[in-house]
Amino acid sequence: MSNKIIIAIDGFSSCGKSTLAKSLAAKLEYVFIDTGAMYRAIALYFLRNNISFTDNQAIYKALQEINLKFEYNVTSLKSDMILNGENVEQLIREMKVSAKVSEVAAIAAVRDFAVSQQQAMGKQKGIVMDGRDIGTVVFPNAELKIFVTADPLIRANRRLLELRVTHPDITLEAVSENLQHRDLIDSTREHSPLKQAADAVVLDNSNITKEAQFEIALNWALEKIKQAK
Ligand code: C5P
Repeated sequence: MSNKIIIAIDGFSSCGKSTLAKSLAAKLEYVFIDTGAMYRAIALYFLRNNISFTDNQAIYKALQEINLKFEYNVTSLKSDMILNGENVEQLIREMKVSAKVSEVAAIAAVRDFAVSQQQAMGKQKGIVMDGRDIGTVVFPNAELKIFVTADPLIRANRRLLELRVTHPDITLEAVSENLQHRDLIDSTREHSPLKQAADAVVLDNSNITKEAQFEIALNWALEKIKQAK
């Protein structure tokens, strides 16, 4: 397919962006990139190495030591995050990382580091990327921009179900607090705050199934691919 496009999917935490991005990419035979995994891996590195979030020199040095890679996992049918050669896909989903990732992602040097790598990944198009600033900053010229949203309580309950598999004791309150905390930092930060791009289409999935959401987005994508030269 020569007329490949870029699909940018943004939205609040735990809206189902990655699920949608992953299934669109599989259907269109595009590359799927979960940019949140990159910020999570950087946060994990900072936490492990006690990097102060306000020490610019230490941050700069740490970023030079960080190598991020996605590696396809044939079991989960998605890419795992590899941090300096170590598969950290499970570790970066831990609450310890979730609690701090938005503070790390608000650091300008961290964003520059991640965004330049994301832009390089999209050079050949044929990519579905999900995050917070994909349609506004990473690919402002993306052919299709989707802004996913859902009721906060529904989001918290969905995330709770996922986390309960590995953390049976986790409460709805803890999950809900983390989502609110991240949404607040993500949408009010100085650098690349989460906001809907002016030309994004909104997809509220509060009351629709994953399958219905996929059908809607796929139709939008096919329409854009038809129009692409
Ligand atoms: O997508 P996910 O919830 O895994 O992202 C984790 C965190 O990474 C977000 O809460 C946000 O702080 C940050 N992030 C970001 N920009 C992106 C993707 C994620 O700031 N493009």
